[in-house]
Amino acid sequence: MTQTQEPIIQICDVHKHFGTAVHALRGVSLEVYPQEVVVIIGPSGSGKSTLLRCINHLEKVNRGRIIVDGIPLDKAQNINRVRAEVGMVFQLFNLFPHLTVMENIVLAQRVVRKRSLEQAREIARNLLAKVGILEKENAYPGQLSGGQQQRVAIARALAMQPKIMLFDEPTSALDPEMIKEVLDVMLELADEGMTMVVVSHEMGFVRAAADRVVLIDNGQIIEQGPPQELFDNPQHERTKRFLSQILH
Ligand code: ADP
Ligand code: MG
Repeated sequence: MTQTQEPIIQICDVHKHFGTAVHALRGVSLEVYPQEVVVIIGPSGSGKSTLLRCINHLEKVNRGRIIVDGIPLDKAQNINRVRAEVGMVFQLFNLFPHLTVMENIVLAQRVVRKRSLEQAREIARNLLAKVGILEKENAYPGQLSGGQQQRVAIARALAMQPKIMLFDEPTSALDPEMIKEVLDVMLELADEGMTMVVVSHEMGFVRAAADRVVLIDNGQIIEQGPPQELFDNPQHERTKRFLSQILH
């Protein structure tokens, strides 16, 4: 990461309401630099998923602006361009259950990237090898473990050759023995220089992978910094309280 570069994600004073009752984001500003790994932590309901979903416009902001790789998220045409550059992995794998692993990874490549079937399959095989499950190419998602499904979901997102990857609690629905196999794939991606914004409370991963940790509470950024600083020397009472709940 070099701070002399332009940020690849610029989030500027973003507010998000759900109806009149919920003010999920209350003036969030955040810049993410190329090849940076930013981990967002914070209590349940604090707005972490909403913030991530705003970055690829799965949620429309009510105020403020978001610019991704120089493209403002305003008109429909731009939103599609941004989505083509941003891969997202969710808590629940979201694979198509009626398609095989290979078909899941080929589909968007064909439709969005207009690749030939052969080319799409070759890219899929390379990525399945990378995430360590090449032998499952003909299996259906229901025949895979949660950890395997999540690795397929990562391969599917990578097949679009995104510039940025967003991960929303990608291991929180997994049995403990499967968490590491997914985090290892994410660590490798981080080492390769992928720009990543990750919601995760897996502290081993956060310490190893994060350039910066951002604590969100009640729709606002409370504190941010390198993991060692934030974890070992938190400045704000709310950070201390939250960390004391998750660090054992
Ligand atoms: P987190 O990911 O930090 O747990 P969320 O971003 O999912 O938090 O939610 C932030 C707040 O917005 C919560 O109060 C949640 O109930 C609310 N919220 C999120 N999505 C919706 C939605 N689609 N409709 C109404 N309220 C929502
Ligand atoms: Mg969430």
